[in-house]
Amino acid sequence: MQARPLEASADPFDEPSRSAGDASSLPVLATLRRLEQEYAEVLETRDLPAGPAVAETDEPIFVTRPFLPPLEEFTPLLARIWQTRVLTNGGPYHRELERRLRDHLGVPQIALFNNATTALIVALRALHLSGEVITTPYSFVATSHALLWSGLTPVFADVDPHTLNLDPAAIEAAITPRTSAILPVHCYGHPCDVEAIEAIARRHGLKVIYDAAHAFGVRHHGRSLLTYGDLSVLSFHATKVFNTFEGGAIVCADGARKDQIDKLKNFGHDGETCVGDVGLNGKMSELNAALGLVQLDHIDAALARRRAIDAAYREGLRGVPGLRCLDDCSEDAANYAYFPVLIEADYPLSRDALNEALKREGIHPRRYFYPLISEFPMYRSLPSARRELLPVAAAAADRVLCLPIYPDLDHAVVSRIIRRIANP
Ligand SMILES: *Cc1c(COP(=O)(O)O)cnc(C)c1O
Repeated sequence: MQARPLEASADPFDEPSRSAGDASSLPVLATLRRLEQEYAEVLETRDLPAGPAVAETDEPIFVTRPFLPPLEEFTPLLARIWQTRVLTNGGPYHRELERRLRDHLGVPQIALFNNATTALIVALRALHLSGEVITTPYSFVATSHALLWSGLTPVFADVDPHTLNLDPAAIEAAITPRTSAILPVHCYGHPCDVEAIEAIARRHGLKVIYDAAHAFGVRHHGRSLLTYGDLSVLSFHATKVFNTFEGGAIVCADGARKDQIDKLKNFGHDGETCVGDVGLNGKMSELNAALGLVQLDHIDAALARRRAIDAAYREGLRGVPGLRCLDDCSEDAANYAYFPVLIEADYPLSRDALNEALKREGIHPRRYFYPLISEFPMYRSLPSARRELLPVAAAAADRVLCLPIYPDLDHAVVSRIIRRIANP
């Protein structure tokens, strides 16, 4: 059955029979009780297609599950927010999280945001771009959407078959007199060919903004991957390796750039009575920043768990005919954000058939990234969006499956997924 819309029942804020001091009858609690019941109904009837196989566990396993610290570590920070009533606008938790992230990531400057999409839009604005920006079709749609929101024209270039990141040769071939920048994605947290991209940018006088939404904590050649290019944008969304419920950040090289970005994320305010640019509201709240501080205490343990799961998949799936694990970037410090496999022609099932077979057993992988961004209606008429110009990205989108990976994923479940894929 479907969850009832909220309006369908009596207004919970109108509850007549409550007596002062009886917390259990507070209208908000009545609402929560009703919502809990609705969630329970939704969970019970989650539309798992009926199939012959019976799941060994009754809880469905999704591609990811947000990591949360113990609640009791968070509540003292919440209490402090209630005491001080500093809720946002660069409060103490915001400042402290910027400081801790600078140290943890090993980056010169970082500006926190409410999410990565606004951070991308601000990053593009900060560099005064115009015309065309070369980007990848093999990503989450926010990458290109940030360009359209900024009045810029995305130019799609094909990806490298080993990393599924932008192919430097394809970038160079896509440059025109109207090109102002390159917007690559460190897809799955695997580093782009940053050295080649830097050389191209220098040769052609282009800016480079990395969509580093997947790349929290990744290091490359002994330094933070986030220090390459002009700017790097992180996402702290619930599904990412490091989350603040919602959140994001821009990494930049110096204080002047951070100052400009901080103004842009605060409506363009420059002092109390002056507005210097068309800014927006991209500020991270104290609540999200406080959560980030607690999350940071657990990130190393979370990454260690991800690393173990990645190793188990690689070991277990090695030699399965027709199945290719994306190369690990072994000389770099990785974050194991995703576990993508490519289902090749000689695997007994098609990618979609394997996906459905796993779903029937309560395992829900995701086809990241299918379809290509260039196939969505607002992009597909662009000259660079033609599928035949993007053969590597198109083949990957048709073959990829991201398997479940998250810190508290049970090893027994990983083994079950491996057995199922190895015995289709
Ligand atoms: C998640 C994601 C984004 C958007 O991040 P939000 O914080 O949700 O706005 C952008 N780009 C990529 C590649 C992503 O995976």
